[in-house]
Amino acid sequence: MGAVTDRAKCIGCGRCIDVCPGNVIRKDEQGKAYLKYESDCWSCAACVKECPMKAIYLRLPPEYGGTGADMYARKNKNITTWEIVRADGEVIRYTTDTEEANKY
Ligand code: SF4
Ligand code: SF4
Repeated sequence: MGAVTDRAKCIGCGRCIDVCPGNVIRKDEQGKAYLKYESDCWSCAACVKECPMKAIYLRLPPEYGGTGADMYARKNKNITTWEIVRADGEVIRYTTDTEEANKY
C-alpha cells in the first residue's frame, strides 16, 4: 500500500509535495510528481486529497479492495469525496466532512 503517481495526468502544481509530511515526493525532469522514497510513504492520503487532477492515488491491499483497488479523492472545502476503484471495475464512493470529524 502506498501512493502512486500518474505522470500523464500530473500538471506539476506541486501541491502534493507541499503537503507530504514525509517529504517523499519530488518532481522529475519534466516537472511531474513521483515518489522518490516509496518505502517512506505511510499512506496518509494527504497528497491524494490535495491533487486537483487525480494524478496521485493510494493503491489499497486486497484486504480493502478484494483483489486490490485504487483510492482517489476530491476535496471541496470541508467535504472530501473518496472514490475506490476495485480491480473488477466497481466504484465505491463515500464522503467525509472535516467539520463533523470531532463531533462524537
Ligand atoms: S500518502 Fe502521505 S506520506 Fe505518502 S506520499 Fe502522500 S502525503 Fe506523502
Ligand atoms: S498535486 Fe497532483 S497535479 Fe499537482 S504535482 Fe502533485 S500529482 Fe501532480
